[in-house]
Amino acid sequence: MAAPAGVATAARPVHTAPTPLEPVLTRTREELAAVLGSLTGTRALVMTMGSLHEGHLSLVREAQARADHVVVTIYVNPLQFGPGEDFEAYPRDLEADLALLARAGVDVVFAPSDAEMYPTPPLVRIDPGPVASVLEGRTRPGHFAGVLQVVAKVLNLVRPDLAVFGAKDAQQLALVRTLVRDLDLGVEIVGVPIRREADGLAMSSRNAYLSADERASALALVGALRAGADAADRGGEAALTAARAVLEAADGVALDYLALVDPGTFLPLDDGAHTGPGLLAVAARVGRTRLIDNLTVQLGPRHP
Ligand code: AMP
Repeated sequence: MAAPAGVATAARPVHTAPTPLEPVLTRTREELAAVLGSLTGTRALVMTMGSLHEGHLSLVREAQARADHVVVTIYVNPLQFGPGEDFEAYPRDLEADLALLARAGVDVVFAPSDAEMYPTPPLVRIDPGPVASVLEGRTRPGHFAGVLQVVAKVLNLVRPDLAVFGAKDAQQLALVRTLVRDLDLGVEIVGVPIRREADGLAMSSRNAYLSADERASALALVGALRAGADAADRGGEAALTAARAVLEAADGVALDYLALVDPGTFLPLDDGAHTGPGLLAVAARVGRTRLIDNLTVQLGPRHP
């Protein structure tokens, strides 16, 4: 796509001719607005923090299947990181990300600076409600308020017909759906299943932090979830016990939480009596790296 006058086209060096599939890189809201104004048809949004992998690309492909144009944002949002978390260390490689997105045929990339995103400290804040204080929100106070603040801003800047989020961050996906419903934002939210490595590890930008030994230990997360799923026909307590046993047997894995919750409300489902779908969610530190994963399990007797 040709860039309108005044819009940065820096997805590749200026001496090479842009191909029709090259994304237009926009760094400011004005540049973004100019490009969006030149598009016709529907558009889908994929929000990322960059350091892109196949998981992100599966969101892009879902977006491409559902809309005429895809806007990918790359922004490490400081508001969703707490003190002592990895905001500074978070892997950033815009050039590699742009190359991947060019190959994927993405139209537009929005990669703002912090000053562009938050020219003044935001005074009006979004209260994400009770779901934001359990699981991830309990360990990371303020995290979901920061997530929803940036999601609301980017939805307003891009005005997409639909936005695609990964089930990897299941609680985030649920909260984004609630945000859109409660504030009548008028955008369709599409969830995409977790992409995993061949050995089952959930893809994550943070996997880049892991040493070879830690990478092996990290398999305990998916191993625990699968053990829980296998035991789920005997009920919630059995699923949690089976999953916990895998995590306790693993070397170098410090459990943050393991929980079985209602996939919609995120309220606990560990009374043993519940049947039907439940979300088994885990967070753990492997070395200095905090990883999360989840799996939907079927609680109660299997019907042949
Ligand atoms: P992040 O860059 O980690 O903020 O992720 C951006 C989006 O990609 C979020 O909607 C994530 O849930 C999604 N995502 C990240 N990893 C995966 C994965 N392994 N499978 C599916 N979606 C993912």
